[in-house]
Amino acid sequence: MVVRNPVTWLGTPAFPKAAKDALANTQLRRNLRNATSTIRGKRAAAVAELPDWERLRAAGAAIKDEVLANLDTYLIRLEAAVTARGGTVHWARDAAEANAIALRLIRATGETEVVKVKSMATAEIGLNEALAEGGVTAIETDLAELIVQLGEDRPSHILVPAIHRNRAEIKEIFQRAMPDVPADLTSEPRALAEAARRHLRRKFLSAKVAISGANFGVAETGSIVVVESEGNGRMCLTLPETLITVMGIEKVVPSWPDLEVFLQLLPRSSTAERMNPYTSVWTGVTPGDGPQAFHLILLDNGRTATLADEVGRQSLRCIRCSACLNVCPVYERTGGEAYGSVYPGPIGAILTPQLVNDPKDKQAASLPFASSLCGACYEVCPVSINIPEVLTHLRARVVENKSSLAPEAIAMRALAWVMADAKRFERAQQAGTLARFLGRDGKITRLPWPGSKWTDVRDVPVPPAESFRSWWRRTRGDQ
Ligand code: SF4
Repeated sequence: MVVRNPVTWLGTPAFPKAAKDALANTQLRRNLRNATSTIRGKRAAAVAELPDWERLRAAGAAIKDEVLANLDTYLIRLEAAVTARGGTVHWARDAAEANAIALRLIRATGETEVVKVKSMATAEIGLNEALAEGGVTAIETDLAELIVQLGEDRPSHILVPAIHRNRAEIKEIFQRAMPDVPADLTSEPRALAEAARRHLRRKFLSAKVAISGANFGVAETGSIVVVESEGNGRMCLTLPETLITVMGIEKVVPSWPDLEVFLQLLPRSSTAERMNPYTSVWTGVTPGDGPQAFHLILLDNGRTATLADEVGRQSLRCIRCSACLNVCPVYERTGGEAYGSVYPGPIGAILTPQLVNDPKDKQAASLPFASSLCGACYEVCPVSINIPEVLTHLRARVVENKSSLAPEAIAMRALAWVMADAKRFERAQQAGTLARFLGRDGKITRLPWPGSKWTDVRDVPVPPAESFRSWWRRTRGDQ
């Protein structure tokens, strides 16, 4: 039986439909506009402080490319180092394997409740749902993740999963779903944070097992690194007796000097900070200090297939900073849920279809088209992922997988036939000028079928009264 990869959410429509629904939600758009425009400005200022930013970006990209070219070597080195320091390494080919390993490890402790520090990898494999099916409750401890979890919602941003919620909505969620909510809760940020802190503290103090993701794994020493802003991660990583970390195989870096580059690139790109507030590093097990059992689950789940694609593999450089989301005009208007995946925005548009790696998955296949190709994401990416290049590459792959009788394929063949002959092309241009009568204020909003397929989602500029060729002939004759 083929098990569905939970990178995309079951039942989510393809992007064009989901985006249309999201666009109708004015509150969502207002929340997103406020949040992304603020962080955009702050990031630009934080980056401008560093005169060698471009060199840092190049260094980050080069380190990641070197790792990707020798991934097997670095992963084996990481495994050896973790094992030598008392940890246990598990290899998971896909989501089902990773979830089964985590569940088995938790069951071995006899616990039925675990605390979690925010982790994209565990969201990618649907770990919480898999644990729930196995009788284990996972409590999210990141404030935004907690809001999403209590609201039975879905994350809509890599860094701020509840970015689509405002204060009033969060208060309402807490009052509805937080068992120990204060009776006099207001929508003041301080009051909301305090309510969450008290709720979580009780969980931290009783939890025996914690689950984390990993921002980086240092191959030379087997050290795992998590960066975060709230301190909840630090509590998860130090208080429980057993720690289970799920890490994508691309997160390995060779050495500590390499790590230093990313610890500069990541905070400025994500939260516009010079340094992130909490950087937790642990290496295997230390007797009498912190968790006494440490398990590292190394997750593939489509990464090896992505690595095999010469253009697409640069997506694996991603350090999940979310800068590309905050500058994307499409993301700003639709929000993250429209992408139907744990990875939204420009990085989601290229990473999700590659991790899913199934040309029949209509929702994933729609994502490379969820972009204006403006290139703003490429400009801000701290590891220089050429997102527009990967988008067009993946679009070509989607088209190649379509039937030759698909309307798009027929239209392209017709266009190729017209453009193959100068006379035909000129006649088509002349016919096109007739469409001027359909225009108003310089644009056409409605064309008859099959042009309606285009104007249903986009306007067309009114064609000029005179084509370039006629203008040339009129002004220059046969020169
Ligand atoms: S693609 Fe680049 S900008 Fe986007 S989240 Fe990844 S590292 Fe950040």
